[in-house]
This record gives sequence, C-alpha cells and structure tokens, in this order.
Amino acid sequence: MITPCPAPTCATPVRFADTVPAGTVQACPGCGGGVPAPAELTFVVYDLETTGLSADGCEIIQIAATRLVAGRVRSEDAFFSYCRPQQAIPRFITEYTGVTDRDVRDAPRPIQALEAFSRYVGHSVLMAHNGHRFDLKFLEATATRHRVPTRPVESLDTIALSKRVFGTKPGTGHSLDRVMSRLGVSVGDHRRHDARGDVAALAAAVALMWDRLALDARATTFPRRETFLPAV
Ligand SMILES: [Zn+2]
Repeated sequence: MITPCPAPTCATPVRFADTVPAGTVQACPGCGGGVPAPAELTFVVYDLETTGLSADGCEIIQIAATRLVAGRVRSEDAFFSYCRPQQAIPRFITEYTGVTDRDVRDAPRPIQALEAFSRYVGHSVLMAHNGHRFDLKFLEATATRHRVPTRPVESLDTIALSKRVFGTKPGTGHSLDRVMSRLGVSVGDHRRHDARGDVAALAAAVALMWDRLALDARATTFPRRETFLPAV
C-alpha cells in the first residue's frame, strides 16, 4: 500500500507491504523521517464512460466516483464530471450511455477532469469493476498522452471481490449486471451506463460484498495494482 509521508513539506509516497501491522514504521525515502503504516485505507469507487473501447484512440466523456470508508459508502462525498472529447461522440455511444455532444459542450477536457479527479482521489485506493482491463487504461492513456507529471496510486478490481463472493464455477458471470442482480442493487436516480448510475450500483454492491467477506479496513486480502494519476 502507498501512504504519503506525514511531514508537511515532504508528502513523498511511501510504499508498505500490504500485510504489515498498522503502525509499523518505515523510513521516508524523501526526508528520512519515520512513517507509520495506516490502520485503514479509504477507497474511491469510480466509473468512466468513453467514446469507445480502445484507450489508444478513444476519450473519456464522464467520470463518476464515490468514497468508501471501512466498507461504508459515503455518498455525500462524491465526484462527477463530464469531459469534452476532441472528437464528436459516436451515435452508438450516445445510445448506450445517454451522453450527448450537448451534455459535454461546456465541460472540461478529459485531462482537466482527470486532474480534478486526482485531487478528489487524494490518497484513496481506486476501485472499478473490470477496472484493470478497461478504466485504468483510459486513466493512464490520458495522463500519458498529455505528458503531465504523475503520482503513484493503487487500484483494486471489484471483479476480484465478485469472484471471491460468488465463486468461479463455469457459468458464474461477474459482469456488473450479474453482480447487481445477485445482490439486488440498483442504479438509483440515473440510468445504467451513465457513470453516475453505474457507480451508485457498484458502490452499493461493494458494501454488501465487503460485509459478506468480513473484510478489514484495508481489504488486506485483496491484491492491488499500482497505477498513476496526474500529480496535483
Ligand atoms: Zn518524508
């Protein structure tokens, strides 16, 4: 796990093994001061809508997120931004997501929205459904394309939670639709495939799976991947 050095002028990201007991002190590679391992991690459940499937040529058009602390959803602590891509939004994407060119007309560019998202994420761990195959690629491609300075953050794919809760027998699907129907959660006030609706459903699903798995405040038993966001 990654935690920032608490020295006010330092804030260097310090990496700990996932399994170290809370309070274990490690030297900061930036200032040499002692940094204690955190007792809990906060998570940011997020979802992106994009102009298509390939992170190489397509762009982000919506980012939605909500924070999760010790398995509880903090729905009042949410993030949402439309993003204005360079290209027009393809018709099939508008049909799929409900997002129109008019919706994004006055929105920030994807890289600007990603910088605002990075400020919102802070030191939380990212969580998305199928995030390691899809969403992370868009976050990384957007930052890389604009050559902005980045900082390390961690990511957990909620497919791993679903596999542990529901098992991996053939035929056991782990799509968000399958997870939602098994757990009886809904998209709330938004439609499915609007990032806000998908995040509402995923966050509710994660909270239920968190309880079923009796996870600790660091979800210690789930492997995380290191990725990066714009340094802000
Ligand atoms: Zn330091």
